[in-house]
Amino acid sequence: MIIRVAILSLPIRRSFDYLPIQESQKEENYPAGIRVKVPFGRQQRVGIVIEVLQSSSIPEDKLKPILNILDSKPLLPPILHKLMLYSANYYHHHIGEVYESALPVLLRRGKAATEEMINLYCATTTGDSDKNQLELKRAPRQKLLLDILQQHPDGMSSESIRDVFSNWNSPMAGLIKRGLVIKRSEAIECSSIKEQSETYSNILKEQPLTLNSEQQRAVDLSHHLPLLLQGVTGSGKTEVYLQIIQRVLESGKQALLLVPEISLTPQTVQRFRDRFNIYIVLLHSKVSDSERLNGWLQARNGEAGIVIGTRSAIFTPLKYPGVIIIDEEHDGSFKQQSGFRYSARDIAVLRGREEKIPVILGSATPSFESLYNVTTKKYLQLPLTMRAGGAKPPQLSLIDVRSRKMRNMLSSPLLEKIHEHLSNNGQVLLFLNRRGYAPVLLCHHCGWSAVCERCDINYTYHQQRKKLICHHCGSERPKPQQCPECGSSGVKTIGAGTEQIEEALQNNFSETSIARIDRDTTSKKGALDRKLEQIHSGDNQILLGTQMLAKGHHFPNVTLVAILDADGGLFGSDFRSSEQMGQLITQVSGRAGREKRHGEVVIQTHNPDHPLLITLLKAGYPAFAEVAMNERKLAQLPPYSRLALIRADAIDPQITIKFLSEVSVIALQLTTTDNTIEILGPVPSPMEKRAGRYRAQLLFQSTQRKALHTLLETLTIKVDKLKSARKVRWSLDVDPMDML
Ligand code: ADP
Ligand code: ZN
Ligand code: ZN
Repeated sequence: MIIRVAILSLPIRRSFDYLPIQESQKEENYPAGIRVKVPFGRQQRVGIVIEVLQSSSIPEDKLKPILNILDSKPLLPPILHKLMLYSANYYHHHIGEVYESALPVLLRRGKAATEEMINLYCATTTGDSDKNQLELKRAPRQKLLLDILQQHPDGMSSESIRDVFSNWNSPMAGLIKRGLVIKRSEAIECSSIKEQSETYSNILKEQPLTLNSEQQRAVDLSHHLPLLLQGVTGSGKTEVYLQIIQRVLESGKQALLLVPEISLTPQTVQRFRDRFNIYIVLLHSKVSDSERLNGWLQARNGEAGIVIGTRSAIFTPLKYPGVIIIDEEHDGSFKQQSGFRYSARDIAVLRGREEKIPVILGSATPSFESLYNVTTKKYLQLPLTMRAGGAKPPQLSLIDVRSRKMRNMLSSPLLEKIHEHLSNNGQVLLFLNRRGYAPVLLCHHCGWSAVCERCDINYTYHQQRKKLICHHCGSERPKPQQCPECGSSGVKTIGAGTEQIEEALQNNFSETSIARIDRDTTSKKGALDRKLEQIHSGDNQILLGTQMLAKGHHFPNVTLVAILDADGGLFGSDFRSSEQMGQLITQVSGRAGREKRHGEVVIQTHNPDHPLLITLLKAGYPAFAEVAMNERKLAQLPPYSRLALIRADAIDPQITIKFLSEVSVIALQLTTTDNTIEILGPVPSPMEKRAGRYRAQLLFQSTQRKALHTLLETLTIKVDKLKSARKVRWSLDVDPMDML
């Protein structure tokens, strides 16, 4: 008996054969999908049993026995294991890498599949006795921490403390020493969702809203095909999700909701907690490893009624699967961009079919792929056209900035509008998708510009940190006082990012408080939440930000939204640029006038006659999508064809091209009788250099998915055997999101 094992955390696209353990020779001890510990070189590794074979191509005396069996049952239910195999096949990735993406990190490392104990810190006293006050006078941080803990009588986990209190370790140690806090370990006790839905006569904590007819129809039809819920921002999609989930919970089943990382805010989660008396699990990047393992197990054991997570949560096993909902389905973050490059949205649809449960895709701006699937009757489209609660749609207009005097990207008509809205007590939101102070630093005297040597692209100047930062590879260096080429002191910035706009706004609106939201101002934990809170309480009248501001947030008092630069998206180098521009403008616009107040959106552009922009403005996203999709159709680009991209990089550009040329020769040989597949390249990538490595790519395009798939299957096996493949880093991206 031979056991084939996929080893985790190993960048090798193959499995390895092992012998069974001496004492455990029965085949039933090795079901596919359990973890085993195996010897690998001088190390021990965790692997997944893929299958049991009768023989191996390797002589038996060369094979080593497995060291340990880590699970008695497969980690994943059979349907999910099947989904792993299918995904490995579809994306031409090794099953080990697929499992790697699906499992919580502690399971990958070989931890037992049992819940981790969580440390809870509890205050031992509730009031502030005089003694405490006295003792803590000289330890204000301890006092502060104790105050927080006293507000949580059930105790707080280290994660939740860290959210609200930085560097808490030493004051905590002080409190424990004083006996004011005790630490206990416990596993969360929880009953299954079946019991929860029976025990709670009412799983509802608050009454649902009365749906309008469109919303009601969506809830009623949710058992149908994959449902594309296309609702403008504020049309009540979340309410539809809530009521679909309610039905699922009432029938004793579980719901899985996927959202982009950026919109998984406390407010989003709170809406679900407020509605249901049910155990909710969160799975996202800020959840600790133990919490993630616990959440995963609680989902698998049927204890979590709702699982809310980001991309990788799509692989969460559910004991009683009821529904999968993907919110903001068009969002790029659902596609993994490294390693196993899967689309969580596409896998969700597949999983829904396998598990025979409904899948709901929601968006104000559906992806062209999903709209295409509506036309081929794979999805059922349900529009929500009305803004729930009677809010009116915002009014959109262009500001033609050609030959206008602009200072820091603010035209005078825009400045007037901002004044007008502020004086009417409205909040103003300005959107610019470029952080930092300026994207270019240039010598006015000789033309030298600050370029990242590792990437060949301009450094972005960050004024607050007085640094040049490469947004491509992250490298930094101080800003030169003089031009390193000619010594002139005429070094100037060109163009503007959010940091500079903030400065300009402060000069123009000195009385008004401004909130800037981008990766630089929100990198500290909890910073984004604090900023959002300030905005909601009305402290900040002007909000300025990158796409972090564009998604998912509710700003009821915003009456003016301004898009400072719409031109980038019109002429972007990627075939999805215009789709993304249309989505972004629509999403940002959706932030205006969500409640009773009327909203206005202005867009600054140098191309006021651009047909796509005009269609978007006059006729909205659906009409825009139709026109833009037609362009894709003419060019035979997705969704009207399938793409696969082989990317490669190396220190020497010639090695990369040589490798890809060899790949392309093999591919040409394999397709001599097939004229449905086009092979384009190899060419240097649009961003050729990154972090000192040269990148190039080879593109495959076909209208026949099957043919392309068959080619890739043979091709990847042959490529693995190429000598030149060992000198480069290469990857295969099926259905790539971009070609950068
Ligand atoms: P979306 O998710 O599409 O942006 P939401 O579900 O967040 O929309 O709804 C926007 C606002 O409208 C929320 O404040 C919500 O409470 C309210 N709302 C949604 N549906 C209804 C309804 N049927 N009746 C009244 N208010 C509603
Ligand atoms: Zn110079
Ligand atoms: Zn760089």
